[in-house]
Amino acid sequence: MARYRGAACKLCRREGLKLFLKGDRCYTDKCAIERRPYPPGQHGQGRNKFSEYGSQLREKQKVKRIYGVLENQFRLTFERADRKKGITGQNLLYELESRLDNFVYRAGFARSRSEARQLVLHRHFKLNGHKVSIPSLMVKPGDSIEVKDKSKKIEIMQTALEGVDRRGLPSWIELDKENLKATFKGEPQREELTLPITEQLIVELYSK
Ligand code: SF4
Repeated sequence: MARYRGAACKLCRREGLKLFLKGDRCYTDKCAIERRPYPPGQHGQGRNKFSEYGSQLREKQKVKRIYGVLENQFRLTFERADRKKGITGQNLLYELESRLDNFVYRAGFARSRSEARQLVLHRHFKLNGHKVSIPSLMVKPGDSIEVKDKSKKIEIMQTALEGVDRRGLPSWIELDKENLKATFKGEPQREELTLPITEQLIVELYSK
């Protein structure tokens, strides 16, 4: 599937905030947005006002980039969220949080969502005891993942787990660091998702 292959830091600079796409580097002073806190390109430091449509579009791009989801898949996720009971914008975030690659990242097995996606694609995990390789698979409350025996010594996973306390483990995930297992306890509450996202703008964009 097509993926964005450009510089990850440019995406953060475009959105004007840290999207945490590069693992440990994002927590150091090498972070590009600390050094150059303006959009990339020749006119990056110029006028930066958005129309209503522009703000809605930027918000959608930001969320897509945070979760590493491409346009079609994002649209499908939105449609699923729209069909669910409750507030569509919040449902959208819960759907994105329930993706397997996001769960792997949030549980601390990877330093970024793209790293998590790679680990899933390379079949290093079992979901409820079954091998999985689909990053977009949706997990449900009570589901658990474990690292396959053969994969337990993988260096990037070990390094990621060493930094899990610094990155913080969300309250809706339980991690058994010793046995390399994690359980998805339930969908997060909206206030627990602390990234600066105004999901209502995305709902407005797709409602046009
Ligand atoms: Fe974004 Fe991380 Fe790059 Fe900083 S280091 S600009 S947070 S991807």
